[in-house]
Amino acid sequence: CGYVALIGRPNVGKSTLMNHLLGQKLSITSRKPQTTRHRILGIKTTEAGQAIFMDTPGMHGDEKKVLNRYLNKTADSTLLGVDVVVWLLDGLYWHEYDERIFKKLEAAGLPVILAVNKVDKIKDKQAVMAFFAEAKQKYPFEQIVPVSALKNTNLDVLEQHIMALLPEAEPIYP
Ligand code: GDP
Repeated sequence: CGYVALIGRPNVGKSTLMNHLLGQKLSITSRKPQTTRHRILGIKTTEAGQAIFMDTPGMHGDEKKVLNRYLNKTADSTLLGVDVVVWLLDGLYWHEYDERIFKKLEAAGLPVILAVNKVDKIKDKQAVMAFFAEAKQKYPFEQIVPVSALKNTNLDVLEQHIMALLPEAEPIYP
């Protein structure tokens, strides 16, 4: 059993992923950024284990606005006390703020699964995956998984990787 944080920039598909992983509409999905303002929690139980998922506000580069600062803080605080981080990226492009998120993850020293989203829209999938595999040289991601949160592609594989990284449940003694 363990805690899993879904993090990433605004609009990369965190809430869509959360809803599809959990099979229920917990988080609001929107084309507009900043709809998730607080941590949203959901629990998933499978044969492989039990996980508490946390959807987080998008991590944002522009800290001039109070709301952005608040959302960044909320997302950052999620990194405290989780067992696994799923870092969701928009596979269509790498944003300069992803570099900052990279540094935060490095400092947190947590196991990270890199989920490259929106593969349904990517034409040259091999080139994109090669780019992210290169990133693995810099940060030791546990796994790099291409997914489409919207079309439910590869989410079973992502879930298996997540469950495999969670701590064993405490045995219950009589
Ligand atoms: P969040 O801000 O990271 O939580 O992103 P949302 O889940 O609200 O999604 C932002 C937008 O991206 C919405 O319009 C989604 O429908 C769209 N989206 C999410 N996942 C995918 C995907 O796998 N493929 C495509 N094409 N669009 C997606």
